[in-house]
Amino acid sequence: MTLKTLNRCICMVQESKPKIAIIGGGPAGCVCAYFLQDLFDVTVFDKNLPLKTLLPTGGGRCNLTPEEFDLKTLAHNYPRGEKFLYSVFSKFGVTETLDFFKKIGVETYTQPDGRIFPTSNSSSDVRKKILNALNVNFITDNIRKIEEHFNLHGEKNIYPFDTVVVATGGHSSFEMLKNLGHNIIPPKPSLIGLKTDKIFTSGITLKNIRAKFAKNAITNDLLFTHQGISGPLVYKISSLMARERFPYEIVLDFLGHDIDLQELFNKNPHKTLKNLLADFIPKTLVTSLTEYSDIECCNINSKMRENILKSLREFHLNATGTVAGGETVTSGGVDLDEINPKTMMSKIVPNLYFCGEVLNIDGFCGGYNLQNCWSTAYVAAEGIINSYRSNV
Ligand SMILES: Cc1cc2nc3c(=O)[nH]c(=O)nc-3n(C[C@H](O)[C@H](O)[C@H](O)COP(=O)(O)OP(=O)(O)OC[C@H]3O[C@@H](n4cnc5c(N)ncnc54)[C@H](O)[C@@H]3O)c2cc1C
Repeated sequence: MTLKTLNRCICMVQESKPKIAIIGGGPAGCVCAYFLQDLFDVTVFDKNLPLKTLLPTGGGRCNLTPEEFDLKTLAHNYPRGEKFLYSVFSKFGVTETLDFFKKIGVETYTQPDGRIFPTSNSSSDVRKKILNALNVNFITDNIRKIEEHFNLHGEKNIYPFDTVVVATGGHSSFEMLKNLGHNIIPPKPSLIGLKTDKIFTSGITLKNIRAKFAKNAITNDLLFTHQGISGPLVYKISSLMARERFPYEIVLDFLGHDIDLQELFNKNPHKTLKNLLADFIPKTLVTSLTEYSDIECCNINSKMRENILKSLREFHLNATGTVAGGETVTSGGVDLDEINPKTMMSKIVPNLYFCGEVLNIDGFCGGYNLQNCWSTAYVAAEGIINSYRSNV
């Protein structure tokens, strides 16, 4: 049965609208409110301005979603939540997300790298369009406690509700959920720069660097920072390793696989190593990586060549921690074993629903984390609508 038919069913039978509270007016909470607003008396609580957290997304451009229409491939981009998301994405995937945004007036385009942005290139515009599409009550308050059947304790008041959706994101409010009996997987930063035991000149970016760590091997762009390493390559490493202990080893290959060093030596006998490699690696970095940077190629013997290759192709460094406060998302949150993926309802507290980053779901860069918000928000709304329908 479609949402529209369900809506009609409930409207016919319900006289007064049930009261739904959504705690958290971020992307997940606001979109959940959108799908509920025609049938219910919806109130969104936020301690800050609603959808403020959307503003910095995608560097202010808001990477809404990835262009990935196969739900299994889509779900494979979530180190935490992959299997849980199969059924969620089967109800609301990228196609439905694009339809939703079109409906509220957000046109989109796809970048060559497969990331989808609003045509306005403005997260502020997306925020405005979502808020314009909402016809719900907003209350500014910090909800500190949820009582069963369901009094919400804010700083300003106590608010009674019939059903509650928790959409508080990955950073706070876990204590009140623990008090309700939910298990919380401790939050850890993900999609973040790493501190390392070896530091190079900061600001240098290298394209298509291959990294091996644990049992993984990935290639992407690397940025050196004053504390260690960052950039797309490192964000992905931080995501895949978010639940591992520091320190862990990363092996970097600074040379592309099509580069034959011996052939380059033979063709350029009188260039120093650092000048020879200048097209691929900044000279300062070559100098930091090997003691042979100033030696002419014709003077590099086989033992030296072996050492050079090792330091350029198999450079070992240890990640010692994440940089403070820079995470894009947190891994961890409400234990997915305690949530029904078909409805997003708690298996512990009836009529308590979850959506967004508060769940133990996090994805890679590229729009996957907002996609989690849009999809789980829809499924929570549908779950609530279905539960009222079965009660009338
Ligand atoms: C710099 C940056 C850039 C990003 N860019 C992208 C991107 O381009 N694409 C992408 O897919 N993802 C991106 N992300 C990740 C994405 O923004 C988050 O995954 C997403 O915002 C999570 O949405 P949410 O609604 O679950 O939680 P949040 O956005 O964290 O919203 C939760 C809301 O709940 C409120 N709240 C919390 N506790 C309480 C309480 N007790 N009472 C009342 N209110 C409460 C908060 O004030 C907040 O407004 C980015 C993140 C960052 C930090």
